[in-house]
Amino acid sequence: MQSKKPTVGVMALQGAVREHIRSLEDCGARGVLVKYPSELSLCDGLVIPGGESTTIGRLMSDYGFVEEIRRLAEEGMPVYGTCAGLILMAKRIAGEERTLLGLMDVTVRRNAYGRQVDSFETDLLVKDIEQEGRPFRAVFIRAPWIEEVGPGVRVLAVHRERVVAARQGNLLATAFHPELTPDRRIHGLFLRMVTGRGLSSGGKPLTGGLEEGSPVEGEEEKVKGLWKKK
Ligand code: GLN
Repeated sequence: MQSKKPTVGVMALQGAVREHIRSLEDCGARGVLVKYPSELSLCDGLVIPGGESTTIGRLMSDYGFVEEIRRLAEEGMPVYGTCAGLILMAKRIAGEERTLLGLMDVTVRRNAYGRQVDSFETDLLVKDIEQEGRPFRAVFIRAPWIEEVGPGVRVLAVHRERVVAARQGNLLATAFHPELTPDRRIHGLFLRMVTGRGLSSGGKPLTGGLEEGSPVEGEEEKVKGLWKKK
């Protein structure tokens, strides 16, 4: 097993960037700001932060990120989207024609909790993180929720019957903001996906959803090898 620190990029166009960098570094990764598509090839994984999805989406298109992220994600690069990042990763947005990356087989609803409940915090049980039985303090800020998930998507957390955290192979998404609290268990899960230890999708990065149970032995390197050029 190699011990080199994984490098995880955080899209630094707008939104909660620094907090993700700090969270990733707390988990033992090297967190780097990504401002240009050419920097993506230096990254072992990518975080798309919360913020304003329309703004981040427009900037991502203008800077030429979309095709490159799609290509790398399809090759198996782990991508984690929080809040606006989830919206940008979704294949479908309820009530809207357009999507951006169209990676994750989910339907999201933007600003789903409405104006009355702009922001709130709640304790959630999140699957696949360390100590699953210990609630995770989740901060929601003008958050989306996930209305539908495709067959390859594993639901990791539910709040009031709505999916608020999910995983599909090398893709992870939360409607809430774990970077705003000191609990590092969700970033820890993403780091395990990056280092390959958390993957059990049978070597099919985008379509392979996680099954209940333990990782398939021998698949880790296979999945990593699918996108690692280094
Ligand atoms: N409501 C925002 C949007 O639609 C997302 C908010 C967030 O990322 N905290 O982009």
